[in-house]
Amino acid sequence: MTLLHEFLKEADEGYIVIDRSKKVSYANRFVMYLEILRESWQEKPYYEVIKNLGIISLISATFGEKKSLNEEISIGDREFSARTFYTDEGVILRLSDVTSIKNYEKSKKEFVANVSHELKTPIAALKVILETLYEEDLPKHIKDMLGRALARVEEMNQLVNDLLIIAKLESGEEVLNIEKVNLKWLVDSIYEKFREASENEQVDLINEVSEDAILHSDPEKLSILLKNLVDNAIKYNKKGGKVGIRFYRKDKWNIIEVWDTGIGIPKQDLPFVFDRFYRVDKSRSKDIPGTGLGLSIVKHIALSHGGRVEVESQERKGSTFRVFLPGIEDIK
Ligand code: ADP
Repeated sequence: MTLLHEFLKEADEGYIVIDRSKKVSYANRFVMYLEILRESWQEKPYYEVIKNLGIISLISATFGEKKSLNEEISIGDREFSARTFYTDEGVILRLSDVTSIKNYEKSKKEFVANVSHELKTPIAALKVILETLYEEDLPKHIKDMLGRALARVEEMNQLVNDLLIIAKLESGEEVLNIEKVNLKWLVDSIYEKFREASENEQVDLINEVSEDAILHSDPEKLSILLKNLVDNAIKYNKKGGKVGIRFYRKDKWNIIEVWDTGIGIPKQDLPFVFDRFYRVDKSRSKDIPGTGLGLSIVKHIALSHGGRVEVESQERKGSTFRVFLPGIEDIK
């Protein structure tokens, strides 16, 4: 028994080795505990002796595509990360128990959703009280303080709303209401909402979408997605700058581009901007209100449509966010 065999035998992960002729040549003790192999599995084809259909199709895909793959699989009431390693000699499957991580993530998300929900009502009440007071004839320094308090309450309100949107999207319970959407009209109505903000920032909003750009998507979610991108494109812009939206089709994708001539995003930050709470360089974002959740919402909405989002940016030149949405026939 080699050292490696001894290690694999005792490992707290499952290992199954399938040789080139698709027969199971090795399984460690952890796999035996899971009871996913039939008795006398040695040197038998994997699809005859493995009892879990998810694992069989993962191994079969690995042989078919000749590359290592990754999937989450349930065995009984536990969740596993199943990873295959493809080699010319055969395939190795590794099973890691991720049940406690999954449970932790689930309860963390539920906690955030519940707290956000509970905060909604008191924040709304606070807002009404402050707005009513603000209307009163009060000394200037009190009014200034009330104005600042109102701005803070509005930030809290935005944070809670963003957290609730993310919680809903992540729960997987949210169903998409797919409808025909005229993109030009949608962009017009979104620009209308940002008219004041763009005038204050002296930023031009350009709608390059043609009348016949019809998409199949959830109009409410698409609107949230575009509002977040336009909001950023105005916020992180310069006086006299421009923001534009264009649309085109490529292969099976409907592509919406939101571009701006703003301050851009440093190269080292690009991979993280879609992460929750990520804000580029705190000092630069300090005076610009935001939660760091906008782009995470954008990503989730694109994913929920079976699409994706990518960004290209150059510092001081501007950014382009590209949203890929599948054609109607590809929406699940
Ligand atoms: P925030 O609420 O901070 O705007 P987002 O998730 O929407 O959060 O964006 C994350 C970060 O990415 C922002 O803090 C900002 O630094 C950067 N960012 C997003 N959009 C743009 C853009 N169009 N131009 C430059 N920077 C951007």
